[in-house]
Amino acid sequence: MSNVRLLIAAFLLFVSLVHAQELHEKIFFENSLMDGSYYYTKTEYTGNSWVKNIQNKLPVSDENSFTPGNSLELSYRSASEGFWSAAILHHELRGKDHFQDADELSFWIKTEGNPAPETLPFVHLTTQRATQSTKVKLGDYLSSSSATNWTRVRIPLSAMMNDKPVDQAEIAVVVFSQNQPSTSDVRIFIDQVELVPAATIAMIIDNAPKAVSAKGYEQHVDITWKKETNPLIKYIKIYRSLNGKDFNPVGIQSPQIAGYSDFTGPQTTPIRYKLTHIDQNYRETAFSNVVTASTRSMTDDELLDMVQLSNFRYYWDGCESNSGLALENIPGRSTMIATGASGFGMMAILAATKRGFITRDQAAERFIRITTFLSKADRFHGVFPHFLDGTTGHVVPFFGQRDNGGDLVETSFLMQGLLAARQFFNGNNANETQIRNTITKLWNEVEWDWYRRTNDSDFLFWHWSPDQEWIINHKLIGWNETMITYFLAIASSTHGVPASLYYSGWASQSAEAAIYRTNWGQTTDGASYINGNTYHGIALPVGVSNGGPLFFVHYSFLGLNPHQFTDRYVNYFDNNQRIAEINLRYCIENPLKHKGYGADFWGLTASDGVSYYTADEPTVKGDKGKLTATGALASFPYTPEASMRALKNYYRTYGKYLYGYYGFRDAIDLDNNWCSPIYMGLNQAPITVMIENYRSNLLWDLFMANPEVQEALKKISASR
Ligand code: CA
Repeated sequence: MSNVRLLIAAFLLFVSLVHAQELHEKIFFENSLMDGSYYYTKTEYTGNSWVKNIQNKLPVSDENSFTPGNSLELSYRSASEGFWSAAILHHELRGKDHFQDADELSFWIKTEGNPAPETLPFVHLTTQRATQSTKVKLGDYLSSSSATNWTRVRIPLSAMMNDKPVDQAEIAVVVFSQNQPSTSDVRIFIDQVELVPAATIAMIIDNAPKAVSAKGYEQHVDITWKKETNPLIKYIKIYRSLNGKDFNPVGIQSPQIAGYSDFTGPQTTPIRYKLTHIDQNYRETAFSNVVTASTRSMTDDELLDMVQLSNFRYYWDGCESNSGLALENIPGRSTMIATGASGFGMMAILAATKRGFITRDQAAERFIRITTFLSKADRFHGVFPHFLDGTTGHVVPFFGQRDNGGDLVETSFLMQGLLAARQFFNGNNANETQIRNTITKLWNEVEWDWYRRTNDSDFLFWHWSPDQEWIINHKLIGWNETMITYFLAIASSTHGVPASLYYSGWASQSAEAAIYRTNWGQTTDGASYINGNTYHGIALPVGVSNGGPLFFVHYSFLGLNPHQFTDRYVNYFDNNQRIAEINLRYCIENPLKHKGYGADFWGLTASDGVSYYTADEPTVKGDKGKLTATGALASFPYTPEASMRALKNYYRTYGKYLYGYYGFRDAIDLDNNWCSPIYMGLNQAPITVMIENYRSNLLWDLFMANPEVQEALKKISASR
């Protein structure tokens, strides 16, 4: 009996361990989002050898692709006196850090003419520690003619790793390099470079995508279909016809996303689409039915609807499938929920209900699922962790073992959304009653006072965990995104903190707080919370540096209406508007001469970058050359005209790269010809929510209607 129980326990442990590590495919290249060249490549040549490049990056070919829309062009001359090489670098997407075991390097090739096999390049791999594998000859692995058709090349990893075994996880670069000298140029195209399992039994899927529909907008068409969970499906392939007869492949989509935004620009005739499924061995099903849509001119209001809808979808059909909550980023881990982003997403769902994108009943069903899940999930004195496993409800220490407990700031973002929902669902039916009651319970159980650490502390603390306790020791000190944390801690009627903490903690004038601000702001401007300097002609009452990244004026104010919040120093609508204006004017002045910056292309805030996530701000030191749509668009209430100009430019000029089925991808860096491949849970919803606040005040009105919120306003006002 006890043995059986042990076995079951061991099995469950095994299952949970397996679950904890979602495994991803290691793909070096499928498509470049940007035209011209692919950012994650590097070319070199010496002597009389040469490899075609654009600023040391491989060119991208739109005309030739195995997986549409493009491939990498490898044009070279291999001279006897010289050498060339072209490297394709693996770019690790946020959270996609555990990979399936693979047996082969796989890619597809098409050659121009029939180059002699020995003139085709060597191929080798390089690890993160710069260990090089054995070089193999591409020509040895080319089984059939590749002059007219795309041909698959599969090179066993054992052929490259036989004398130098390495951990597959370490494989970071695929390198093509000069083989035999040749007197003529060679031109080949390479596509879909990845590590794959050995070819096994035939995997066949027989059904084409179902329930396909299409809807036209000003510059693009959204094609949607029914999401399939069949793991054999690698991609959905999209074909387009502009003349009603000839269909050309235009794109692929991951099965994680049940739609595709195809940028055609304005068209005068109807556009037709049909789709197929592609399996793991690149076999293709029959076509779906044909659907038709037309582009059309759109009013400003219609453009706002469109942008609100796309960004909302991230939280609706892009949610973690069990909990209904928001993922950290897409593509990314498919089971890891981000709690703060989920709070933002809840408000986007409420805005979408108001706009009629979904029905009230659909929204209520989702909130039943969300609140039921949250009631059972890990909490630490009522405080949720930053990340939760959506399948188990357990904490995921994504930022390291120290961060394995409660996160008070993320919890405040989550509660901001839940409190808005509690006012929205004011119906008497069973679902809406249950939603309100569960939210009240979750809210009342948050022990804000525990995160004060001691009864005489002037500050709230960001983290606590049962085994790590206060080891991270991060005190919450403004100006940043944590105003809402102090606000809700003061608002709580069950585990509240005194209103005096607003001034002793958030807006602290202490020497300790000044040092904290000076360290992260790299300036003494605003070190005592109040600022008082003028930047780009705009006086700034409150803020570190010249106001910092724009998310400071978004995250706390998705629900907290800044018009209604005035402290000892300033009214926060006025102050936030100034911070947004400073950001805009900085981008117009553009001291670092970054490409594109201007009155219709601005918005420095926290976002994904070419290498990692950074919080960008309008200073020479804090401006990395990348812009983020959410910076400008979540500022709509503060800068409506400049935000609308930015919306049109982001969509019309850069939408082709940036705009997808879940709205704007996270960031774009024109200097580097780079566009982020991910949508971010923290950055999509603020667009939908703040546009809604600009249009109707909806989320502001809902959040402010909570009696505890009104009480907090009074308490903070009384302590002025
Ligand atoms: Ca491709």
